[in-house]
Amino acid sequence: MHGTMCDFTRRNLLLGTALAAGSNETEAQEQSAQRKSASEVNEAVPVGKDIFFHQGDIEHQGHCNNGWIVFKDYVLVIDANFPSGAQTILPKIRAITSKPIRFAFDTHHHGDHAYGNQIWVDNGATPVAHTGVIEEMKRYETGYYGDKPGRWEDTAKTRPDVAASRLKPPSVLFPRELYFDDGEHRVELHHLGVAHTHGDAVAWLPKERILFTGDTCVNGPYNFVGDGNVEQWIATLAAAKKLGARVICPGHGPRGADSMVEDQQLFFQQLRERVGALVQAKKSAREVHQSIPAIRGNLTAQAQIRRYVGDGLAAQVEKVYNEMTGQKFPDDSKASRAARQLHRHSHSLLSV
Ligand SMILES: [Zn+2]
Repeated sequence: MHGTMCDFTRRNLLLGTALAAGSNETEAQEQSAQRKSASEVNEAVPVGKDIFFHQGDIEHQGHCNNGWIVFKDYVLVIDANFPSGAQTILPKIRAITSKPIRFAFDTHHHGDHAYGNQIWVDNGATPVAHTGVIEEMKRYETGYYGDKPGRWEDTAKTRPDVAASRLKPPSVLFPRELYFDDGEHRVELHHLGVAHTHGDAVAWLPKERILFTGDTCVNGPYNFVGDGNVEQWIATLAAAKKLGARVICPGHGPRGADSMVEDQQLFFQQLRERVGALVQAKKSAREVHQSIPAIRGNLTAQAQIRRYVGDGLAAQVEKVYNEMTGQKFPDDSKASRAARQLHRHSHSLLSV
């Protein structure tokens, strides 16, 4: 989203929670919380004993959020980030502990979460992921697997940090769950289902009830839906909700309370309801894309979810429409072009 983040989106991002507040008093509290969160970008914030959250600078650098847990003998990092994102947090981890960084957990295959793997390997760590991450990499990282140039090569054209590194797929893989437990700390990696991609996993800390969601849940207008499935995503969010988290550390945007999972779920449900009503009314693809401003108006009017409405809405509407009907928007439609541009942008530049 960097470079193209419009004023509306930026305002939404900064004020989203504040706008969502009901009363003036709550609004003031929320605004102050939001300011605090905004000031947390690029800061290592302790969210529990030996547990840190680092909100990445998505706007200027395209970075995802990170977490790390200091176990008795080693450090586990949540998300590899882009190479420049890995290099941003490495010294911050080193400032906290001299214990070796042994594992970097990729929540999914996207560049802003996994392209920094080589940096972690160079620093002694092993990338870990759900088996679906490899399946997704085989699908999209065709250059690495000996076919035509894929997303890595595309991204390297615009990101010097990627051009200077190389793709390193995770080599410790788990089909559903993997636990790190040294008696003091416990981190459970869970694949809860298809969501933002077909290979998402979350990091659940049951003792502290902290959930690192990757892009299964974000806090702001960051939902890229191109590689996932919105219908299944809603069910996956329900599974995440069942864990009973107290603190949510999302893949993008400020950390927050457990209600964030519900907010994002409601956003997708409402999106599906709006598009579903048009499909039921037998509207054409052209009519559905022409309804995007009305859908935007409807979703933005809902305080709980308006912070999720941003530049990506056209692509999100098209994706839901495609899931429901198998059809795409007409090629000559502006919305379709915008959706394609956003896809391209997300895939190659940020891979959010
Ligand atoms: Zn992503």
